[in-house]
Amino acid sequence: MASLDNLTFAPPPSFAQGEVLRAEVRAFLAQHMPERAITQGVGSWGGSDREFSRKMGARGWIGMTWPRRYGGHERSALERYVVLEEMLASGAPVSGHWVADRQSGPLLLRVGTEEQKRAILPRIAAGECSFCIGMSEPDSGSDLASVRTRAVAADGGFRVNGTKLWTSNAHRSDYMILLARTGEAGEQRHGGLTQFLVDLKSTPGISIRPVHNLAGEHHFNEVVFQDVFLSAANVLGEVGGGWQQVTSELAFERSGPERFLSAFTLLVELTRALGPAPSERACIALGRIVAHIATLRRLSRSVAGMLQAGANPAQQAALVKDLGTTLEQEIPEIARQLIDEEPDRDSTRDFAAVLARTMMNAPSFSIRGGTREILRGMIARGLGLR
Ligand SMILES: Cc1cc2nc3c(=O)[nH]c(=O)nc-3n(C[C@H](O)[C@H](O)[C@H](O)COP(=O)(O)OP(=O)(O)OC[C@H]3O[C@@H](n4cnc5c(N)ncnc54)[C@H](O)[C@@H]3O)c2cc1C
Repeated sequence: MASLDNLTFAPPPSFAQGEVLRAEVRAFLAQHMPERAITQGVGSWGGSDREFSRKMGARGWIGMTWPRRYGGHERSALERYVVLEEMLASGAPVSGHWVADRQSGPLLLRVGTEEQKRAILPRIAAGECSFCIGMSEPDSGSDLASVRTRAVAADGGFRVNGTKLWTSNAHRSDYMILLARTGEAGEQRHGGLTQFLVDLKSTPGISIRPVHNLAGEHHFNEVVFQDVFLSAANVLGEVGGGWQQVTSELAFERSGPERFLSAFTLLVELTRALGPAPSERACIALGRIVAHIATLRRLSRSVAGMLQAGANPAQQAALVKDLGTTLEQEIPEIARQLIDEEPDRDSTRDFAAVLARTMMNAPSFSIRGGTREILRGMIARGLGLR
């Protein structure tokens, strides 16, 4: 069960305080946003830039809600939310610390040992330490209970063999949180799973191979474990408690503004391309999108509040992701209907290049972090329909 001991309860800021912070973030971006092509802001949290992450860490904008003793800043979930949405809306290169800030750090706070927390959390908060998620496998994505990577008890720890797939940023990460089978699944199929903290930079026996996506980018990987020894100190949380830990982690993964802002750069370019006097049809279409974003933002912020209070809002997070990714995928279609211009990733025209890049990334929006069918199944269960 989630423990409330490690969570902080900073009072929510007033609207005015939030807006002061928003202005600070915009000023920071105006000064520190690296020079780069506009298309780099599309799809996956702007790409990875360790130097930019360090600068954000120095400003206190990573691990914002965590206790000070672990390098955090004891600020509210709402303040963190302001920083996240400004970063995403500007296409800033935040993916170097995104996973660690969003889910690996909070998971460590909940279930990590004191030693693990003291060793790793301050480094994450400083923008010095990146994480990847080792859940999916070649034959196990939606059905995580069927993972086959095995961690067998060995002298002083575990021997791991197996393959993880689609592991985003594994090639750039310092650590993976690995989900592996340590025992029998049992009748409910949720038993016998354990999470491990794996140092990707210094553990022998791990190979990381690139998998290129539809857009030709190297974003995710295949990660092979061959007789990898992990000591007992690498166990994260309880041996056999992996299922509960993974499902609570997924609520962090599914509910943030990155689940409805992946096509935001395109929305901005669309608005620019429509010019100062858009048609009535275009105004209606843009108005619909903006109204949806406003509603999703309310939903997503509510889930952030529940997470900060130590709840496990798995169904609510699934709802945010399903509705959010549906909207993200609609935006390129609407853009194509409103502007008579071919998508072209090599174009010097921002609209054509951003449209092409968003279209190529859009199919993944509703797959990464859990597919639409799986999320809807969870929502139906939450409503008592199955
Ligand atoms: C861009 C991207 C980044 C990713 N990054 C990571 C990462 O960092 N770490 C990681 O661990 N994984 C990552 N993934 C993997 C992702 O989580 C899986 O692809 C996803 O969970 C689906 O699993 P699968 O690919 O095995 O498809 P499958 O589970 O085989 O599903 C195939 C299809 O069958 C449907 N389906 C499956 N089961 C059911 C069911 N019970 N009822 C109805 N329909 C069903 C699915 O909805 C889907 O349409 C990433 C994926 C993408 C696209």
